Amino acid sequence: MTELRRRRDDTRPEECWLIYYGDVLVGTIAARTGGPRDEAKWDWKCGFYPGTEPGDHRSGSADTFQVARTAFEAAWEILRDSRTEADFQAWRNEQAITTWKYAMWEAGAKLPTQTTSGVSGCFCGVTIDIAGTDRHVLAAHPFGAD
Ligand SMILES: [Zn+2]
Repeated sequence: MTELRRRRDDTRPEECWLIYYGDVLVGTIAARTGGPRDEAKWDWKCGFYPGTEPGDHRSGSADTFQVARTAFEAAWEILRDSRTEADFQAWRNEQAITTWKYAMWEAGAKLPTQTTSGVSGCFCGVTIDIAGTDRHVLAAHPFGAD
């Protein structure tokens, strides 16, 4: 069975852990900053989009990281059991398309939606149109930029 892994989010000043299920980012556990001293010190959020609807997401607070982690894991087990591989693939596909768009901008290429003809050239040299963009990206660039 795939285990949860966590990685520190270095883009945030407070301690924040990104929680991954395989390669899918399924939630966070973060230290709360500011606020009164008697407030909970950790917030957790469990859910990913696309692949789950926002109404399926769960969140909570805890006094310690360990309590937040335990609560997250309980919420995750429920969410995970209601997911299919297609849900996780929907998240991966969205990540690939977003990464591809940034790679297009870095290459100075226009997206088909940015041209009057609806046709453009991918950075790999293939001609793409609006209707075929997602199909091309997922077939030729499953990780977005490679
Ligand atoms: Zn391409």
